[in-house]
Amino acid sequence: LSWPTKGDVQVENLVAEYVPSVPILHSISFSVKHGEKIGVVGRTGAGKSTLSLALLRFIEASSGRIMLDGVDISKIGLEDLRRNITIIPQDPVLFKGTIRFNLDPFSEYPEEIVWDALRRTHLVRESSIHSSSSVASINASEDSISDTETLAIEHMSGVFSSLDAEIKENGQNLSLGQRQLVALARALVRRSRLIIMDEATASVDFDTDDRIQRTIRGYEFANSTLFCIAHRLRTIIDYDRVLVLDKGKVAEFDTPYNL
Ligand code: ATP
Ligand code: MG
Repeated sequence: LSWPTKGDVQVENLVAEYVPSVPILHSISFSVKHGEKIGVVGRTGAGKSTLSLALLRFIEASSGRIMLDGVDISKIGLEDLRRNITIIPQDPVLFKGTIRFNLDPFSEYPEEIVWDALRRTHLVRESSIHSSSSVASINASEDSISDTETLAIEHMSGVFSSLDAEIKENGQNLSLGQRQLVALARALVRRSRLIIMDEATASVDFDTDDRIQRTIRGYEFANSTLFCIAHRLRTIIDYDRVLVLDKGKVAEFDTPYNL
């Protein structure tokens, strides 16, 4: 397993700015233990997205530092850092190609792992397929189709039934919520220890929203640290803690119960 192996996060006096001498995050400090589920809230412009950009060094700290598992991230190679942290943006980008390609572009993982991630994100029906071999046999019985790639496309209410199911350009054949689920599945395949999710602001249907939250709270993410930038309080009501940002400062950091 690659670094970070745990997912402890320590932010120390972090100052972040887009324009020199115009700080957006004003020396913020907080720490999070591995596995914690943190809701991040605050008014528009409070600095929530800026914080997530700083965690991936899309914006560099102008002073202070961020430590992951005790290592200052400014000392980590950018590629290494970004490969090991998953960010799920408000509108995730998917590639044109198969679902398998989207989850494992370099074919680094066994099919079982990819299937498993799809199952755990409720993107494939529990009962429909349990192994790739059973897919093949189901498909083989549909004689008119000779090639498994074509078959693939069976696509029941946004639920994949084959690893070869086709994702269109920009994922336009999936809903926004489903694209976020695919991004979560990607995080599962890679076993990311740190996941930053920017909840979709546009409306996601209740069912999909529920699937996203159930996935996040499932045991498969128990060992991952998660920041969820939330726009609906309902989303984070049973998170471990809530980080309230206000004008680039930490206004509160406590359990939802105490807030
Ligand atoms: P929202 O809830 O609307 O997504 P947010 O809390 O994510 O808001 P940020 O996007 O972090 O807010 O923005 C914080 C501040 O940084 C805002 O004042 C914004 O104008 C400024 N800002 C954001 N991106 C840039 C940028 N690329 N260049 C300059 N200023 C920026
Ligand atoms: Mg934002």
